Amino acid sequence: MSSIQYVMTSRGNRVLSYNGHKFHVNTRRGYKTYWRCAGRVAKGCTMSITTIEDNVVKVNNEHNHE
Ligand SMILES: [Zn+2]
Repeated sequence: MSSIQYVMTSRGNRVLSYNGHKFHVNTRRGYKTYWRCAGRVAKGCTMSITTIEDNVVKVNNEHNHE
């Protein structure tokens, strides 16, 4: 069972917490939102998530870090 949580940052942006890892919005296309791992820049992580109306519909790749 996956743990999903939405957190509002002080800047008013939403962050998706998925199994303890944070994801930032990459882009929105239609009714889909594409999220990518917060460790993408620092760690080169390629994991991303697609959501529709706050429901996770797709998970791409895995974290390359703890
Ligand atoms: Zn990651």
